[in-house]
Amino acid sequence: TDLSRIRNFSIVAHIDHGKSTLADRLIQLTGTVAERDMKAQLLDAMDIERERGITIKANSVRIDYPAQDGQTYVLNLIDTPGHVDFAYEVSRSMRAVEGSLLVVDATQGVEAQTLANVYQAIDAGHEIVPVLNKIDLPAAEPARIREQIEDVIGIEAHDAIEISAKTGLGIPDVLEAIVQRLPAPKGDRDAPLKAMLVDSWYDSYLGVVVLIRVMDGVIRKGDTIRMMKTQATYKLDTLAVLKPAMTQIDELGPGEIGVFTASIKQVRDTRVGDTITHEKKQTATALPGFKPSVPVVFCGLFPVDANDFEDLRDAIEKLALNDASFTYEMETSAALGFGFRCGFLGLLHLEVVRDRLEREYDIDLITTAPSVVYRLHLKSGEVKELHNPADMPDLTLVSHIEEPRIKATIMVPDDYLGDVLKLCQDRRGIQADLTYAGTRPLVVYDLPLNEVVFDFYDRLKSVTKGYASFDYQLTGYREDNLVKMQILVNDEPVDALSMMVHRDRAEMRGRAMVEKLKDLIPRHMFKIPIQAAIGGKVIARETLSALRKDVTAKCYGGDATRKRKLLDKQKAGKKKMRQFGKVEIPQEAFISALKMD
Ligand code: GDP
Ligand code: MG
Repeated sequence: TDLSRIRNFSIVAHIDHGKSTLADRLIQLTGTVAERDMKAQLLDAMDIERERGITIKANSVRIDYPAQDGQTYVLNLIDTPGHVDFAYEVSRSMRAVEGSLLVVDATQGVEAQTLANVYQAIDAGHEIVPVLNKIDLPAAEPARIREQIEDVIGIEAHDAIEISAKTGLGIPDVLEAIVQRLPAPKGDRDAPLKAMLVDSWYDSYLGVVVLIRVMDGVIRKGDTIRMMKTQATYKLDTLAVLKPAMTQIDELGPGEIGVFTASIKQVRDTRVGDTITHEKKQTATALPGFKPSVPVVFCGLFPVDANDFEDLRDAIEKLALNDASFTYEMETSAALGFGFRCGFLGLLHLEVVRDRLEREYDIDLITTAPSVVYRLHLKSGEVKELHNPADMPDLTLVSHIEEPRIKATIMVPDDYLGDVLKLCQDRRGIQADLTYAGTRPLVVYDLPLNEVVFDFYDRLKSVTKGYASFDYQLTGYREDNLVKMQILVNDEPVDALSMMVHRDRAEMRGRAMVEKLKDLIPRHMFKIPIQAAIGGKVIARETLSALRKDVTAKCYGGDATRKRKLLDKQKAGKKKMRQFGKVEIPQEAFISALKMD
């Protein structure tokens, strides 16, 4: 295709502002997908994405658009994830395109992720077309939002396009703007092949599918290519474009986006950001490349039933085929037996993986306390990364501990500002900035990541009744007074409940945990002490009193069906419990005990 008739773009938006709906309308209006195959949120392929209404993996679609100038253009849309955990995928897909549609909900205005995403687009050198969505709603205030975009983001917005992705109003204007306002890609067809590896995923029929953007040269079916970073060579089996169904094509030239398969075994063999060239005629310079995404939250995953361990291993290996940002290694716990220590990009990522394991592979799991990665400076001078509080060495060996910090950006209506500041303050936050985005406060806090991974987002939503928006970036490591807190149940340490905490907050956290556990652990025939301790020192304690009578006694022996039901209920409950010494702890205790209210 002639470069001047290609437009590559992404859509950036805060979650729920209508990005997926707009993508659907663009696909529909151009007849890319036959009407009978059209279903909502076409690009959000995974079930979990559909159910939760979020986009996790970036996806791509090629649209043929006959423009008003009589020419047919090829529009390549790369859809990007909207959630903060996946910010990294946003930044890399941005590098594959020249422009962005900035979608802002005209009833809500600019939010934290609007800002974070649009700045990434600006960094990537994009031309940006602002689009005001949900104009069909009576609460839409396009004039005010235009002004806000200009004030807060600092881009021209007087020619922002007013649309309703729901009703289809204004969609033809969006298509024309893509052609007229976004730049065509540049590239040299006669130069050696240079293509960017944008993404890859595992397809159970095709194996690994690689999404590429050609910069220079031409890639053809049957070519032998080389990945410059891994130096691996492959012969292409298929070359295709996504419409969004895979449609075979003979070649892709400069500016084009498509996929290939080449008998690649696992997603790990492909490095996102790598440069792809021909084996024989190589390009002289590789693309700058992306830094790999690193897991920031770790937790243990153990099967509730120890017999499921092999199934869990299988399931995790399969999942990892498709998700290179998820890491795992085997872990043994005194209390929980065999399991895996897994690394995630954030809490949502953790939840998605755990959900999929439970749902798609039907394995009941115990999730241990999520932990961030601490940096231990040992007295020997050695620096170690700590992924699991259970691996914490003897304190006498440790000189100091550093923890990861983030820059959190929060936008919130004035009414809730006080609550948000208090929440950040309670989580050891340091206020970095407080400005106004139009009439809405924009708060910037420096926070320890470990205070955020648990339930910060839930708390933020609840104190602001859902009106706050939140985004964060890792900024670096800083030393603080951190200690490992252990939980002892019936005098036995439960390693799965160990956690790193700030010394000043240890008593409070320890107290909250033992109180919670007292409610969560069922009574036994004997008294059970539940303690929180640092080193050998107990900092909080509760005692669960002994059960006096047989549980069925309260049925007065008479009603056999009731008695039956009660016993069945107990049995069902049992399946989700694990034995710790003489004590049984229910599965939900591991997560609930760690949430703070
Ligand atoms: P995304 O998170 O940005 O991908 O947002 P979605 O496309 O999933 O849309 C979020 C919600 O807003 C969905 O319930 C959509 O049906 C709704 N929505 C999207 N566009 C419009 C619109 O133009 N008008 C109205 N009334 N609702 C819309
Ligand atoms: Mg979406």
